[in-house]
Amino acid sequence: MAPSVAIVGAGFGGLCMAIRLERAGIRSYTVFEKADDLGGTWRDNSYPGAGCDIPSHLYSYSFERYASWTRRYPEQPEILGYLKHCAEKYDVTGKIRFRTEVRRAVFDGAKWQVTSASPDGGGEARTEAFDVVVMGVGQLNRPSLPDIPGMAEFEGVSFHSARWNHGHDLTGRRVAVIGNGSSAAQLIPRVAERAEHLYVFQRTPNWVIPKPDAAFGRPARLAFRFVPGLQRAYREWIFRYAEGALYPALARGWSEGLLRRRALRHLRDQVPDPGLRARLTPGYPPGCKRVVIDSAFYPALTRPNVSLVTDRITRVTAKGVETDEGSYEVGTIVCATGFMSTEFLVPMEVVGLGGRSLRERWKNGAEAYLGISVPGFPNLFLLYGPNTNLGHNSIVFMIECQVNHVMSCLPYLAGAGPIEVRPEVMAAWRRRLDASMAGMVWGAGCRSWYKTADGRVTNNWPGPATLYRRLTALPPRPAYRAVGSG
Ligand code: NAP
Repeated sequence: MAPSVAIVGAGFGGLCMAIRLERAGIRSYTVFEKADDLGGTWRDNSYPGAGCDIPSHLYSYSFERYASWTRRYPEQPEILGYLKHCAEKYDVTGKIRFRTEVRRAVFDGAKWQVTSASPDGGGEARTEAFDVVVMGVGQLNRPSLPDIPGMAEFEGVSFHSARWNHGHDLTGRRVAVIGNGSSAAQLIPRVAERAEHLYVFQRTPNWVIPKPDAAFGRPARLAFRFVPGLQRAYREWIFRYAEGALYPALARGWSEGLLRRRALRHLRDQVPDPGLRARLTPGYPPGCKRVVIDSAFYPALTRPNVSLVTDRITRVTAKGVETDEGSYEVGTIVCATGFMSTEFLVPMEVVGLGGRSLRERWKNGAEAYLGISVPGFPNLFLLYGPNTNLGHNSIVFMIECQVNHVMSCLPYLAGAGPIEVRPEVMAAWRRRLDASMAGMVWGAGCRSWYKTADGRVTNNWPGPATLYRRLTALPPRPAYRAVGSG
């Protein structure tokens, strides 16, 4: 009999898992989604200018290539539309239980007891048994609000970039944007067009490279649809470029200097004022923090109605933001301050063999074999889990590798009963990660969402994406064991 599967989250990961099960004829699955719509990060991040900085012909499922992308880097509505198209086409929408948040998952020795409830706390919690749990909640789903004294006293309107207040018109307002990462870089040019004045509060400069965006006109879209092999070849070319040219820069290889020069040239071309350029020049190697890929960010900073503020924020008052150098009166504060990225699966409570909680196991930082499986947590699989983020290529590719791995585990666990990854395999994986991590740029003295406060990189995969594909494609049997057999 096919195993019953609980999938948590209906974003790129959860939907991929559901579609693959559906295509394999396994219909005994339920997708739990706490929001009232699917799309995950592409539902949440609807700020003006939101989009992907990986070309969509690659940032999409390999089994659902899409000829209709209107540009190389489409914006959020188009990506969300693509996900809805996939869910409809593969008939998984009806399997999604919306407004249902998974609170707890407890392994009882044979099955996972999954407790879910309405996210607003109304109604009764419900507990159901599943053979398998697949977590598809992503790494960037919980906004991080800055811990700045006085935030609660602010009398204007404030919100996070991933919870955009669409009812609040920014036209003619004085606005503060805190942060200058990828989200801020995308929304700042749009906000600058409307605001009377925009103050951008930058704590640390980022490396920025141009985004070579272009529209796909009708002839290009028709060619993608009808010329045999064209889409596949284009996708492959983007993938190979990321692997061949971008990955070596992050591994401190031959292209590191090229990436730095490209970013410095971009800064020189777009920012004529040497004083402003100096304040925008990072003091750490490119790639240590996620490189921003954007061509509109720097020009926005040179507008007369935009000021870059690099003093240290000391507090927020009723009327605005104070720094150690001055005060800035604003009516709106946008916190483009990122996500609680290193706290995987929080606030869910996950309890495995022997009543051990996953939070306890991960108290020194999250880790999982292939980023997917944790010893002591049988039949639990993570998508986009620890050490599977990339700074150079498509996360959708990684998710598909993970789903392939889960699919190859299903026949094994259907026959053997619950399976867990062997502790010695996890220990070897840890050693391998640590050894590879030593060569990567992420440890080069910068703060980033890739690592915990004590500097352990819990989020990124330190190898090429092709290596990850090879490792996740290995037969799972040697790495796992049936529960009770070890
Ligand atoms: P982020 O990269 O973590 O950036 C957060 C920003 O907020 C940083 O500039 C940070 O400064 C600043 N910040 C945080 N707390 C602060 C405080 N208390 N005071 C002052 N500044 C503070 O977050 P993000 O921009 O939302 O991007 C997160 C990730 O999402 C990206 O790296 C990317 O992987 C993904 N993303 C992708 C796209 C895309 O096009 N594919 C678009 C948006 C986001 P410090 O640098 O000093 O910490």
